[in-house]
Amino acid sequence: MNLTDDIQYLKGVGPKSIELYHKLDIFTVEDLLLYFPFRFEDFAGRQALELMDSEIATVKGIVATQPNLGYFGARKSRLAFKIKQGEVAIGVTFFNQPYLKDKVVVGEEVGVYGKWDSKKVQMTGLKLISGEAQAGEDGLMPIYHLTEGLKQTALVKLIRQVMTPETLAQLLENLPAEFLQKYRLMDRQNAVRAMHFPENDEEHKQALRRVKFEELFFFQLKLQALKNKEKSGREGLRIAFEQSDLDAKIAELPFALTGAQSKALGEILADMTSPYHMNRLLQGDVGSGKTVVAELAMYTAALANFQSALMVPTEILARQHFANLTATFPELNIGLLVSGLKASERREILADLASGHLHMVVGTHALIQEGVDFYNLGLVITDEQHRFGVNQRKILREKGQNPDVLMMTATPIPRTLAITAFGDMDVSIIDELPAGRQPITTRWVKHSQMASVTDWLKSELSSGAQAYFVSPLIEESEALDLKNAEALFAELTETFSQNKVGLLHGKMKNDEKDAIMTAFKVHETDVLVSTTVIEVGVDVPNATVMVIMDADRFGLSQLHQLRGRVGRGTKKSYCILVANPKTDSGKHRMQIMCETQNGFVLAEEDLKMRGSGEIFGTRQSGLPEFLVADLVNDYNILEVARTEAVRVFSEPERYRELIAEVGQMDESFD
Ligand code: ADP
Ligand code: MG
Repeated sequence: MNLTDDIQYLKGVGPKSIELYHKLDIFTVEDLLLYFPFRFEDFAGRQALELMDSEIATVKGIVATQPNLGYFGARKSRLAFKIKQGEVAIGVTFFNQPYLKDKVVVGEEVGVYGKWDSKKVQMTGLKLISGEAQAGEDGLMPIYHLTEGLKQTALVKLIRQVMTPETLAQLLENLPAEFLQKYRLMDRQNAVRAMHFPENDEEHKQALRRVKFEELFFFQLKLQALKNKEKSGREGLRIAFEQSDLDAKIAELPFALTGAQSKALGEILADMTSPYHMNRLLQGDVGSGKTVVAELAMYTAALANFQSALMVPTEILARQHFANLTATFPELNIGLLVSGLKASERREILADLASGHLHMVVGTHALIQEGVDFYNLGLVITDEQHRFGVNQRKILREKGQNPDVLMMTATPIPRTLAITAFGDMDVSIIDELPAGRQPITTRWVKHSQMASVTDWLKSELSSGAQAYFVSPLIEESEALDLKNAEALFAELTETFSQNKVGLLHGKMKNDEKDAIMTAFKVHETDVLVSTTVIEVGVDVPNATVMVIMDADRFGLSQLHQLRGRVGRGTKKSYCILVANPKTDSGKHRMQIMCETQNGFVLAEEDLKMRGSGEIFGTRQSGLPEFLVADLVNDYNILEVARTEAVRVFSEPERYRELIAEVGQMDESFD
């Protein structure tokens, strides 16, 4: 068997299951070997009396009493029996797993994996281990992230099948031997084996340390490589313009810039006019007014006869920016480039970009496609930059002659992490909201209180307010998201029969989306039901109510983004979280949302609750998604990895191979 073998030839992989594996990005034998479990269940038996109260563990014993199965409520059941561990009699209860009854046979040994209650001398069982358990030598059972339809046992079997001395031998060591020695790291083959099937806890710890080091070290190497490239091409454009022209435009704006906006704009212009090329991150909480700063930077480029491009993650946002830009700069030629254009429209825009007729262009990913050429691209801006990978930004940048680059983000990033993650990028911060903003009142209500919410909302609507309803999020299933949104739409159309209700979702055709958004913007509709497509950037200042259904399904930063769609004007705004959270984390998120509106506080909470993996995962920061490492919890390893990566690039002769390897990996950076 070879590492590169397609998994379709493996025993146990059929035409149906192969789709599931592909969903997990598993295509080859190697992918399987490197698909690590995210935790272990400890199925090794423990002495019950040595457990701490509430500890989760496995207790083995001999079944001492007939299992007693009782039903209560519609589908609820309770299975109770006793086991004996030596002389100790232990009560066991399983809730809602009636089928376990047949597996509990008096006189036979079972393992109960569950939560220990030391007062009652009782286990609340989560899993029953009877017969041959699938655990490894030490009772450690690897648990993998799965996709719907795939079973743990099937995946474990498959990994066992491909993990042979033959395949392991093909996994080549990718760290210099001196590192293994210096940091006492396990070699790669052993580490991969022990990541799945460790002989004991300690071995797994060592494997994990090695894999984390590897991951963070290559991450840092790639950053260093990128940085080196940047520096060597640091000579940039010098943008020359008349300050008075810019001032005149600023005076025409419908509002005065906030101090923080002026300061950020000043920093950006200083970069643009210098002979060095700009590489700057503009950070500001939702609603802080980043857009106008970006627009003015684009205007400045135009004054100096350079083209500029603004790349945004969604089409709705692209159209919104386009409308803004054309309104603010009627004297300029501005293009919109999104995927849904007619062939003739697209052709015209591409021609106008290449000829230099267009001063500015706004677009989605369509901007970085082949065939999009500029006449003289001087400034590249990405909005909601966390939605784009490093590579995508790079492609756009390369469409110009080393243009200035500005990235905008609403995700507050703690400074230490920003430095490690974004390397030598400069940062501007808008830390002030435009004057006249009122705090958004956030309320958490249960589903049973919906009637009073809709009553209240009816009176708000009749006095001219507009509201968003965000439908529940079904993870991983767009089809269900859509169904939810449609059901909610039907319900609300009935409830708010005196008002106009619109529906917006990701599956709509572009002009449909456009029409719905415009109708809401000009207040033809009063209520907009939507999936999370409105999460980023959408700006309708007259909308003052945001209702989020099943809000506990969302993470804090997403909730914060959603809430940021209201409170954008001077009118009092409200955010209603409708949720009956089942978990503590869900409750906590609802509470903290009601307590604070500060993006930094929320980001920090988020970090504490979820670890950096998700916050700084690809989706949100443009960083690669880490398999095992965590930028916060593994900060120590990260620091070492960084030091070593810097050293590697300071001795390029000695580490030629490593550097060459990283060069090849460049393409897959995001
Ligand atoms: P974000 O930073 O979330 O992208 P936007 O740029 O969309 O925020 O701005 C939010 C709203 O605030 C917009 O309606 C915008 O017109 C308005 N705005 C921006 N700057 C100011 C300002 N200095 N004074 C008043 N309103 C402003
Ligand atoms: Mg924005």
